[in-house]
Amino acid sequence: METRVIDGRELSNRLREDIKSRVERLKEKGITPGLAVILVGNDPASAVYVCNKEKACNKVGIYSQVIRLDENTSQETLLEYIYGLNADKTIHGILVQLPLPPQIDTNAIINAIDPAKDVDGFHPVNMGRLMIGEDCLEPCTPKGIIRLIQETGQPIAGKHAVVIGRSNIVGKPVALMLLRHNATVTICHSKTVNLKEIARQGDILVVAVGKPNLVDSSFIKPGAIVVDVGINRVDDKLVGDVNFQDACQVAGWITPVPGGVGPMTITMLLENTVLAAERKWVE
Ligand code: NAD
Repeated sequence: METRVIDGRELSNRLREDIKSRVERLKEKGITPGLAVILVGNDPASAVYVCNKEKACNKVGIYSQVIRLDENTSQETLLEYIYGLNADKTIHGILVQLPLPPQIDTNAIINAIDPAKDVDGFHPVNMGRLMIGEDCLEPCTPKGIIRLIQETGQPIAGKHAVVIGRSNIVGKPVALMLLRHNATVTICHSKTVNLKEIARQGDILVVAVGKPNLVDSSFIKPGAIVVDVGINRVDDKLVGDVNFQDACQVAGWITPVPGGVGPMTITMLLENTVLAAERKWVE
């Protein structure tokens, strides 16, 4: 069977058209969805991410405000900005670009964001709601991963999904979402014994580790759906955690890097911002 590539850019473009129309409908009601992004410090990768988010907002008509703060910003100052944005009626989504400098307690910052504006979906209220299956703002990368899997047209229910990685931003939430879609889920991590054997049982294999070429064809069940979340820079090139060429000998579907999960993450951020604005309007 030939491996089909799940094109995250094409899917993103399609979804962004729908987001654009939702923004227009809100504007007809006098509401412009607004996203505030706070960037602390000079991390070059973070600066690029923030710039991409700003551009993506502009393209679909979302108002974006970027607050750039000095590397030495104190936790108290950052909290003041968040309280201000929580109270700001023109802002429906707040995102604090991670990582933060060491003098700042990341959890304290995330916990200070109004859960209704937590478009990253990292606040414990949103995470807790996800856990118990209640309506919430879902974290962007996992949400994008589910959409990519759905794009194959294969049902998730009843499938064995293996997730490699247990971070709070990708591994754990995507496992919960797959469970919510009635997959049987196994989570693997750095201490997992027999990783390859477990991975090979997955009808769906999500790899979110951050190690280039960790997974090759010997980890993949023939015909499986493989989602490569990893972003690694090797010799100035972006590569995932999966050896793409080798995996294509076995996988039924696979996401490329770049052009797979990456574009979907920003698209889901736009979608969450619109969702937050729509909910505010209904209140
Ligand atoms: P993380 O470092 O927080 O977590 C990595 C996980 O991998 C851990 O749970 C760890 O237990 C596990 N792990 C480490 N070594 C392992 C091994 N040898 N075998 C099995 N498991 C192992 O990373 P993260 O934030 O979840 O990100 C993972 C990757 O996804 C990174 O490359 C990151 O850049 C990328 N990422 C991409 C996007 C996107 O939009 N495309 C978004 C978030 C993260």
